[in-house]
Amino acid sequence: MTESLQNIKIQRLVNFSPGDIPVDVLRLDLLHPIVSGNKWFKLRYHLEEAIATGKTTVATFGGAWSNHIVATAFAAAEAGLGSVGLIRGDQTASLSPTLQDARNYGMELVFVDREAYRDKEALKRARNQPEMYWIMEGGYGPLGAKGAGEILGTVDTSAYTHILCAAGTGTMMAGLINASGSGQTIEGISVLKNNLDLENDITLLLNDPGSSRFHLHHSYHFGGYAKQTALLFDFMKGFWATQLIPTDLVYTSKLLFGTKDLLLNNYFPAGSRLLVIHSGGLQGNRSLPTGKLPF
Ligand SMILES: *Cc1c(COP(=O)(O)O)cnc(C)c1O
Repeated sequence: MTESLQNIKIQRLVNFSPGDIPVDVLRLDLLHPIVSGNKWFKLRYHLEEAIATGKTTVATFGGAWSNHIVATAFAAAEAGLGSVGLIRGDQTASLSPTLQDARNYGMELVFVDREAYRDKEALKRARNQPEMYWIMEGGYGPLGAKGAGEILGTVDTSAYTHILCAAGTGTMMAGLINASGSGQTIEGISVLKNNLDLENDITLLLNDPGSSRFHLHHSYHFGGYAKQTALLFDFMKGFWATQLIPTDLVYTSKLLFGTKDLLLNNYFPAGSRLLVIHSGGLQGNRSLPTGKLPF
């Protein structure tokens, strides 16, 4: 995958900002069609640690459409490691394309009912083997944040005043805060409803826990994690028509909708220069009926 880093580029949005604030998108989605941009970055140091500690298999958790699961399967195989995915919910007659891809990359899938899935520590204890290296759901943790910080080094990002990203576990956002310059502010769009732990989860991963260079926005979740409305689909279609950038239904559509809304509300001072992180995730759109989106 390292050789694909050169596919990453910056794209200036056209007719997006109501004023004259320039908005650029960092296209991590161009890294790979299935393996989500930010997930691959978050996994790098976890895999390095697994190898350094003599482990031969990585084990982690996720749902049937999880970007993290498929990225872990891919990245583990690339690093010469085996992988096990503990999947939320009972096995269905046919696997989702996401799980099919994960299996094709060599992941062993273990289905766990929703009740048992809640207690990750118990699952870990029950399944643990000496050769296993465990990664938390979504790649959360200091090593995940460290890898995500390298996103800002893929191109020259030093001239931006604000960097915007979607936040699930907040790992990527913490990494961006740690890796950004002192004149930069990180704006996170939370994709979960009322996730009031998020700020604390992020702060735990910061090099400077007192940092005030970040803000969270909690009103762009569209009903909750992986929920959508007609308004969101209209936005995704319009964004594709004007920018030729595909977005995913869980993270980047809500991020760009939120960015636009903040611009319309004059949130950013004159002279701001915005960089929006397109963190990938497009494979998840395969959960939609065909024809629902034009890309
Ligand atoms: C997982 C994911 C995120 C959120 O990353 P966190 O580090 O969990 O906050 C954002 N965008 C995409 C496409 C993702 O797959």
